[in-house]
Amino acid sequence: MISQQIQTAAYLFASILFILSLGGLSSQESAKRGVFFGIVGMIIAILSTMLGEGVQGYVYIIVAIAIASAIGIIVARKVEMTSMPQLVAILHSFVGLAAVLVGFGSYLDPETHTLVGAEHSIHLVEVYIGVFIGAITFTGSIIAWGKLQGTIASKPLAYKGRHAVNLTLMLVVLVLGVMFAMKPGIEGITELYIMTAIAAFIGVMLVMAIGGADMPVVVSMLNSYSGWAASAAGFMLGNDLLIVTGALVGSSGAILSIIMCDAMNRSFLSVIFGGFGESSSGSSVAMEGEVTAATHEEVAAMLKEARSVVIVPGYGMAVAKAQYPIRDMVEMLRKAGKNVRFAIHPVAGRLPGHMNVLLAEANVPYDIVMEMDEINPDLPSTDVVMVIGANDIVNPGAQEDASSPIYGMPVIEVWKSEKVIVMKRSMAAGYAGVENPLFYKDNTDMLYGDAKDSVDKINAFLK
Ligand code: NDP
Repeated sequence: MISQQIQTAAYLFASILFILSLGGLSSQESAKRGVFFGIVGMIIAILSTMLGEGVQGYVYIIVAIAIASAIGIIVARKVEMTSMPQLVAILHSFVGLAAVLVGFGSYLDPETHTLVGAEHSIHLVEVYIGVFIGAITFTGSIIAWGKLQGTIASKPLAYKGRHAVNLTLMLVVLVLGVMFAMKPGIEGITELYIMTAIAAFIGVMLVMAIGGADMPVVVSMLNSYSGWAASAAGFMLGNDLLIVTGALVGSSGAILSIIMCDAMNRSFLSVIFGGFGESSSGSSVAMEGEVTAATHEEVAAMLKEARSVVIVPGYGMAVAKAQYPIRDMVEMLRKAGKNVRFAIHPVAGRLPGHMNVLLAEANVPYDIVMEMDEINPDLPSTDVVMVIGANDIVNPGAQEDASSPIYGMPVIEVWKSEKVIVMKRSMAAGYAGVENPLFYKDNTDMLYGDAKDSVDKINAFLK
């Protein structure tokens, strides 16, 4: 058992480690250190909470931690990099559910019934807000998981007047909140149940209304919501560390959402309120032009002649695990004196920084990995662009077709280069489900097949 003062000091130390952890995660070089700080902070947090005053039932706690740790280790070892967003989404749902359960537990706890006056009112507000955010996070994250996993269609389910419905529901939640706060003891439980059901419904509708291409923003938004839910749980439990940690996750998630919104050219407010205006679910423009294909040998010949090459990796590179042969290809081309660079779109793949992580894993030098805004001005003077398993992030429809669901999203302007090679298995659409006019452009050749297999074959010709 440790004293209150020691616990407070331990909480403070853990909070500092969490801040250092977040700071470390902001760059690839310091990410490992950041994760380490996070682990140490969490161990200190758990131990100092367990050893704190009034904690009982150690056997239950230890058994629960052991089971959860075993599940966590198995899941983390098994999960494919491409399935990480689903895992993150489902973990967010747990935080939401925990906040709902803590809220109900805290409301029903006989000890809290002795609170009077302002303290009682504050407690009720904490419970109400905590359960509300928790329920939205819980169901919203489950829908996000379904959309990322492919069990729920990524097409937006948007009906006319949904904003009015959401607004009306919010008003009902407010009225119920006033009624809840005025009832003594646990007499407001009915209001709490009804509000929880409404919040759960709002969570479902908010995420259902969002289309595939906008999912990155939703994932970071739910990340932020889960932080606020944890913070609310911290208020209910009177746990300072949970409040601070939740606020750190909530605000860093909100900052990431703003960055993602900027990258997608979307308004932050419209994301919070669910859906992005009146989004259409498909383009109405017919594709013009003919699709031409190249062979591996032809692509190798083009690369041999090129002076400048830009590689645009996408989700397909991650699926095919093509980053390793790509690294070999880049090495060969650079040895032959060519200017080779990577162009990274902020939402390429399925999680923020997905491509950077994969390229770092394959030991690609950081200095040739460029952001979209850095590389776009150089593309008109580039000889060959290789699009490897990317689709939505190089779709010219985002600039040319006002009826496209991805209209307005900044993209890598690969079609402005001399020659574009698109490596994918078929003519299938990307995650947003939108056809890509790039494939029909005169200067584009398709190279069909699995990305890793194709790069291996090109490498054989380059050797
Ligand atoms: P896309 O999903 O648009 O396209 C990927 C392409 O890869 C597919 O068209 C597919 O075509 C091809 N592909 C799949 N497997 C292979 C393989 N083994 N070998 C070669 N090609 C393959 O990916 P992008 O990276 O271009 O765009 C990301 C999309 O995901 C955006 O819409 C983004 O908004 C969304 N998103 C991003 C998140 C993030 O945080 N980054 C999170 C959630 C969604 P084919 O089947 O013909 O091979």
